[in-house]
Amino acid sequence: MINYISTRNSDIKVTSSRAILNGQAPDGGLYIPENLGDIQTDYHSIIDKDFRGMARAVWNIFFPDYGDELISQLVERSYKDKFSAPEITPLVKVGSSHVLELYHGPTSAFKDVALSALPNLLTAAREMNDFHDQIMILTATSGDTGSAALCGFSDVPGTSIVVFYPDGGVSETQKLQMVTAPGSNTCACAIRGNFDDAQTGVKALFREIPHPVEGVSLSSANSINIGRLVPQVVYYFSAYSQLLASGEIKDGDKVDFIVPTGNFGDIMAGYFALKMGLPVGRLICASNKNDVLTEFLETGHYDRKRTFFKTTSPSMDILVSSNLERLLYYVCGEEHTVKYMKDLAETGEYQITEDELAEIKSVFVGACASDEEGAAAIRDVFEAEHYLMDTHTSIAWACLSKTKDAANAPSVVLSTASPYKFSRAVLTALGAEISDSDEANMKKCHEITGAAIPEGLAGIFERTINHKDVIAIDKMKQYVIDKSSKNL
Ligand SMILES: *Cc1c(COP(=O)(O)O)cnc(C)c1O
Repeated sequence: MINYISTRNSDIKVTSSRAILNGQAPDGGLYIPENLGDIQTDYHSIIDKDFRGMARAVWNIFFPDYGDELISQLVERSYKDKFSAPEITPLVKVGSSHVLELYHGPTSAFKDVALSALPNLLTAAREMNDFHDQIMILTATSGDTGSAALCGFSDVPGTSIVVFYPDGGVSETQKLQMVTAPGSNTCACAIRGNFDDAQTGVKALFREIPHPVEGVSLSSANSINIGRLVPQVVYYFSAYSQLLASGEIKDGDKVDFIVPTGNFGDIMAGYFALKMGLPVGRLICASNKNDVLTEFLETGHYDRKRTFFKTTSPSMDILVSSNLERLLYYVCGEEHTVKYMKDLAETGEYQITEDELAEIKSVFVGACASDEEGAAAIRDVFEAEHYLMDTHTSIAWACLSKTKDAANAPSVVLSTASPYKFSRAVLTALGAEISDSDEANMKKCHEITGAAIPEGLAGIFERTINHKDVIAIDKMKQYVIDKSSKNL
């Protein structure tokens, strides 16, 4: 049976439900399966099912202490009637490649796949571990995580959620998605500051008031939780299964995946799929102008001391990709991982060895593309294929062109957001006129493509605004205490 250990101390060993409940290991490390050998399986026994069947099979391997029956219930609860596509993550052939659309969930971004699942895994873990406190989720967001988390936790018993976002620092669409969030246990609050202020504030609250009032415990919906990572492993199998069904590949053929990367969670899920036995070729890590991972995958030198750029793919704007620590553990071992993370904290950089780099390079390839290259990809693919990509997917598409090799393995580009969610930047890329209002921009995208605006996005302009609070940064603590004492 799989146990979870900390990347910084393998003596810290817990069950999967405990790892989900704790989020992060007490020593600051991340929970990972102790032995990669334990997750190995025959991929045929997974890909012959529909998406929910594949989810059951994958979750059963990673979360053995939940038991088969409970997992079946949790999968149903997580995916029934929440996604607009019957396949959940449909694969579309575009030109000579394929696009895996991960954005058919309620908030039109790929984070829905995991954040539909995490609340259910968490509440079950609470019961299994005899944990009686109410769980209050605290999240700082620059956009996508906030709305997906609000939606995932909405009316989930035993939980409540407070999302802090920078006032004036998110798009009109993203703001409306958050402030119109339903649910008696949800709350979105603007802070007068930028995203970093919001994030620093939230981190301080976890330290200062882990229990804001008696009977309430703070927790995080951050992508370092293994309960967010594992549900993402499923769609790599789904992609492979769809490629086989359409005759695009033969059984056993390797497939390359190109992943628009920020915190390294999505692509780490691909590494787990590979280690489970799925025929994965290369994992191409696509970055925007914030190219810290591109340099790392080329040289083995991770250096966060660089300029931070705001781009048109904001969910990939990042300097520290937390989930990379999980890969480091498997490749470099505990001792080196501890050293590298210490170096990163103290000096802002670290360097792995030649051998470690060679092993990482046997699977991972780094590439980056600028806003302009991403925009050109949106335009070119639309003109040639009448297929519209969002600004994150287009970075991956541009990186695919840069890393094509002679062997040309079949490739799958992971599409992480609906183009309607980033309508302004998408219209700009197409050379179309843009409006000050996102409602007009979405309609314009619709006129151009003829494809329907996703329900969850079309509705936000009419919905009631439920969350109006705007507070100063130094009021966050009191805000959380007030909300938890009133049960929101
Ligand atoms: C979060 C996000 C990403 C990055 O995913 P990671 O798992 O953090 O690497 C990419 N695109 C979109 C649209 C996202 O919301």
